[in-house]
Amino acid sequence: MYAETDKTLTCIDCNQEFMFTASEQQFYADRQFSEPRRCSSCRAAKKAARGDTGGGGYSSGGYSGGGNGGYDRGPREMFSATCSSCGREAQVPFRPTGSKPVYCSECFTNQRASSTRY
Ligand SMILES: [Zn+2]
Ligand SMILES: [Zn+2]
Repeated sequence: MYAETDKTLTCIDCNQEFMFTASEQQFYADRQFSEPRRCSSCRAAKKAARGDTGGGGYSSGGYSGGGNGGYDRGPREMFSATCSSCGREAQVPFRPTGSKPVYCSECFTNQRASSTRY
């Protein structure tokens, strides 16, 4: 049997105490979850952060959940780099390693044009 009392837990993120209510305890016990370690606002913040800024964790995870048959590629992930030729910001479709020169699209076109001259 569960004790029908609310419990006070301490959030591991913000160190604030939060209420783990009797009904939540029941809910967690039913699913065999361990006790929550974060208050609801930290959990919400964490979820939101994971939702919008998919901060470079896995880049190939590409299922968007839409189910209309067509597999539609999202916008390609672009990285910012400094153009080795003109020094402006360049957006490149690969992660700049620093060992190779990176060119902005303009300089890239120029480079190509000059190297494929003959
Ligand atoms: Zn918190
Ligand atoms: Zn450039």
